Amino acid sequence: MTNIILLGPPGAGKGTQARRLVEERGMVQLSTGDMLREAMSSGTEMGKKVADVMNRGELVTDEIVIGLIEEKLGAAQGTGFIFDGFPRTLPQADALGKLLARTGQKLNAVIEMRVDDEALVRRITGRFTCGDCGEVYHDETKPVKEAGKCDECGSSNLKRRADDNEESLKQRLMEYYKKTSPLIGYYYHAGDLFSVDGLAEIDEVAAQMAAVLDQQAG
Ligand code: ADP
Ligand code: ADP
Ligand code: ZN
Repeated sequence: MTNIILLGPPGAGKGTQARRLVEERGMVQLSTGDMLREAMSSGTEMGKKVADVMNRGELVTDEIVIGLIEEKLGAAQGTGFIFDGFPRTLPQADALGKLLARTGQKLNAVIEMRVDDEALVRRITGRFTCGDCGEVYHDETKPVKEAGKCDECGSSNLKRRADDNEESLKQRLMEYYKKTSPLIGYYYHAGDLFSVDGLAEIDEVAAQMAAVLDQQAG
C-alpha cells in the first residue's frame, strides 16, 4: 500500500495527476473538494452549509473535512490512497496522521506540486470537467477532441465550477499561503516531502511523480 498526499495551490494539477494514478496504479483518490461538491449537489444539510464558504473561496471547517475523510478511509479498497486537497491546515494534517496510525497505515510521500501564481490564473479560468466521468480539461492545454463532448465517456455534460473565477481564486490563494503552505515545512521535517515541477507538461509531471512513487513504494 502506498499512501500519498498531493500538496499544491488551486490549479496546480492535483486532480489531473490523481486521476492518472487511479487509472495506472489502482490507487483510490480522496478529494475533499469533490466530496464537498457532491454534498452540495445532493442538497444535504452539510452541503447547504458549505456552499457559500466554498463559492467565496474560503476553507470549510476542519471538523467537516476530517469527518469526510474518516468516513471514506474505512470504506475504500485499493492499492493506496491519494489525498487530493487534504490536508489543507495543520490540524487536518495532525488528524490524518492519527487516523492512519489508528488503522495501522502510514504515509509514503507528500508530493508538493510547484507552480507560480500567474500560471494558476490561466489554469483555473480555463478549467472545465466532465460531469459524468470527472475527467479534467482545459481550454488551451487539454481541450476536448470533439467540441462539447468528453473524450473519455462521450458525455456532453461538460461543466465549469462556480468558484473558478479570478475573484474566488484570489481568496483561495490567500488561504493557501496562510493555512496550507505551512504544511510544506511540517512534512519536510517529518522527512516525507518531495517536489515536482507542476509547470511541466502533464506527462512530464506524471513521470516525475512516478519516480517518487517507485522509490517510496512499500
Ligand atoms: P482546487 O482543485 O481548486 O484546489 P478543491 O476542489 O480541492 O479546489 O476545493 C474546492 C473548495 O472546497 C476549497 O476552496 C474549499 O472551500 C473546500 N475544501 C476542499 N478541501 C478542503 C479542505 N481539506 N479543508 C477545507 N476546505 C476544503
Ligand atoms: P487542482 O486539482 O490542483 O486544482 P487540476 O488538476 O484541476 O488542478 O488542474 C487545473 C487545470 O489545469 C485544469 O484545467 C487542467 O486540465 C490543467 N492542467 C493540469 N495540469 C497541467 C499541466 N501540467 N500543464 C498544463 N495544464 C494543466
Ligand atoms: Zn466524461
